[in-house]
Amino acid sequence: MSDLDPDTRRLRTVLDGLDSEIGRLVSRRDSIAAELIRHKGKPPYDPAREHEIAGKDSALWLPLLRRVRTAEGARLTLSSPKPGAFPAEGFTLVAGPCSVDNRLEENLEVVARAGLGWVRAGAWKARTFPWSFQGEGLPALRRLRDGADRLKLKVVSEVLSELDAPAAVELVDVVQVGARNAQNFALLKQLAALGKPVLLKRGPSCTIEEWLGAAAYLDGHVPVTLCERGVRGFDPCFRNLLDLAGAVLARQLGGFQTFVDPSHGTGIAGLVVPMVLAARAAGLDGALVELHVAPHESPSDGDQALRVDELRDLVRALAPGEPERASKPDRVPVSSR
Ligand code: PEP
Ligand code: MN
Repeated sequence: MSDLDPDTRRLRTVLDGLDSEIGRLVSRRDSIAAELIRHKGKPPYDPAREHEIAGKDSALWLPLLRRVRTAEGARLTLSSPKPGAFPAEGFTLVAGPCSVDNRLEENLEVVARAGLGWVRAGAWKARTFPWSFQGEGLPALRRLRDGADRLKLKVVSEVLSELDAPAAVELVDVVQVGARNAQNFALLKQLAALGKPVLLKRGPSCTIEEWLGAAAYLDGHVPVTLCERGVRGFDPCFRNLLDLAGAVLARQLGGFQTFVDPSHGTGIAGLVVPMVLAARAAGLDGALVELHVAPHESPSDGDQALRVDELRDLVRALAPGEPERASKPDRVPVSSR
């Protein structure tokens, strides 16, 4: 600072003084807020508080307070996690084809033979283009339910529209809210009233706060499990960017059971196994993965579907006592979807 003129030096000194005062205030606020949360015994996401803070919104304070609250929440370990849609203990693997298609029954057999208790498959598909396979709707969901019942599998399946929700919830064990519907508040309110446990995907551009805000529509009404499925990234290598840190943070802040979906989260089948293992190592609760007996024949998302042998490897790698090691990806990513 020695080559600065006296006025600049004086102003710099004032700024430095203010910066350290702000630093002290933020860390004092941080410890009081952490103490308050411990006292309440609840995670920091609090709709009433949210409202109160939004009332004092200003260009400076809202972002600052949000940053502080996010940081403080991440340091807390919840003593009593909320009930999720899946078993509270262990790591749950849900596998199945992207869509209910003409190989459904074979895919169900594979899931059951792998020793899994849960299957996924979509009867209504959210597709970018109207000419892509849209799913066969309620008849497909009935077929999924019947096939799963024969093999004693539980069913996770997505409902796209409020119109279909009442009939669909009767046929699933867990209803999936897809990424494109993560902030469809009318659908969330309806599902809160219908009473089925919900797997809530993260929207491709949802902040953690927005994702937890969406979960708050369901929280207290039905068991909720969050599912990180990748956010919009910058690198075209990946369909989406699996935000593992975001999943851990959402779990810590919101107290929800939290899964990952590395199939949609990467778009690359060869990355699914290592990402599931990473999610388990990070303390998450489960994973949703796509599987197909003939990935190239799948009417949707074949590029990211595990083959039968890959599912078997994954189940083996997740077995207790197995070293946490991902098998080497052995295929080149394909791009069409
Ligand atoms: C799916 O799980 O089949 C699906 C469409 O996922 P997402 O909503 O995450 O894209
Ligand atoms: Mn899919």
